[in-house]
Amino acid sequence: MSILVFAESSEQGYKKTALETVSYAKNIAKNQGSELTVVTFNSTDNSALGLHGANKVVNLKGSAFDKFNPLTISQAISEIAKEENSKIVVIDSTLNGKHIAAIVAANLEASFASNIVSEPISYEPFTVRRNSFSNKAFQNMELCNEIKVLAIAKNSYGATENKEDFTEQDYSISEIKNTLEIVSVEKTGGKISISDADIVVSAGRGLKGPENWGMIEELSEVLGAALACSKPVSDIGWRPHSEHVGQTGIQVSSNLYIAIGISGAIQHLAGINTSKVKVVINTDPDAPFFKAADYGIVGDAFDIVPKLITELKKFKEQ
Ligand SMILES: Cc1cc2nc3c(=O)[nH]c(=O)nc-3n(C[C@H](O)[C@H](O)[C@H](O)COP(=O)(O)OP(=O)(O)OC[C@H]3O[C@@H](n4cnc5c(N)ncnc54)[C@H](O)[C@@H]3O)c2cc1C
Repeated sequence: MSILVFAESSEQGYKKTALETVSYAKNIAKNQGSELTVVTFNSTDNSALGLHGANKVVNLKGSAFDKFNPLTISQAISEIAKEENSKIVVIDSTLNGKHIAAIVAANLEASFASNIVSEPISYEPFTVRRNSFSNKAFQNMELCNEIKVLAIAKNSYGATENKEDFTEQDYSISEIKNTLEIVSVEKTGGKISISDADIVVSAGRGLKGPENWGMIEELSEVLGAALACSKPVSDIGWRPHSEHVGQTGIQVSSNLYIAIGISGAIQHLAGINTSKVKVVINTDPDAPFFKAADYGIVGDAFDIVPKLITELKKFKEQ
């Protein structure tokens, strides 16, 4: 019996979120006296998995895995979980992770909790703490089925080293049991993906028009940040939809979130409130965003942002 965890790799290797999820699963495996098996997608170098506690690595290979098809990947994870007799399957809560975690839980007739924010509160009964109500409340949830699928919120558990020697094998699927075909994949233009970024610079309708995004782009470049925006900004077409964050857009859990000319409506906050440090720049001292901010600047973005860029450049030169 092993604890199973899914880790997705990018062209640049495993991202922090994947290694956090592996570390989380390793902690459970140690607690249960179990081995840790990692199922990978798109991987080339798995040394980081060994460093974070993998005892065995199963690489999804073959034409069925050329593109990210959530149904095919869920099928593979479910089959491997049965072969390994895994009672706990751990997946991250990224967009891709959320797609597959619920399907794996259904396939395995498992109890399922998403957005988990800490290690299990207890093992008997098995209880986890998760974000709920658009991250406005915590919920302690008891998982009663024999098999449990856990989806871990980004940035809620550090990546911790736990070096192990590991074995590797490939896994392919002979009979795909679904009719979903991924025809093509379009990548967003941004240099840094919003959901993976440590720093996000986001701007709203206070910027007045798309012609004013130059300073926002410059600020994000100086900070090495991803660019984001509020919903109306992408609805009007000032910025691409791929930058829209919030309840109906991308969820952000960055270490630093800078909101410029955004009022802080509840639907916007719902998508960003798990970010660690929030900085708000707004002309209106009564803007609701200030209530959620760690640092607030009451002032005109057209005044503040260029000054911020100058000071950051000076700081970097030192
Ligand atoms: C079902 C539903 C789902 C929604 N989902 C989302 C979502 O996912 N994401 C989202 O963002 N919204 C969402 N919304 C919309 C949301 O309710 C707000 O309307 C929206 O977030 C407001 O965007 P904004 O803050 O950019 O614009 P505004 O509300 O117009 O605010 C602009 C802000 O800029 C400030 N400002 C003006 N000039 C300056 C200046 N020169 N310098 C600095 N500050 C300035 C103003 O004081 C103001 O606070 C949703 C709404 C609904 C009904």
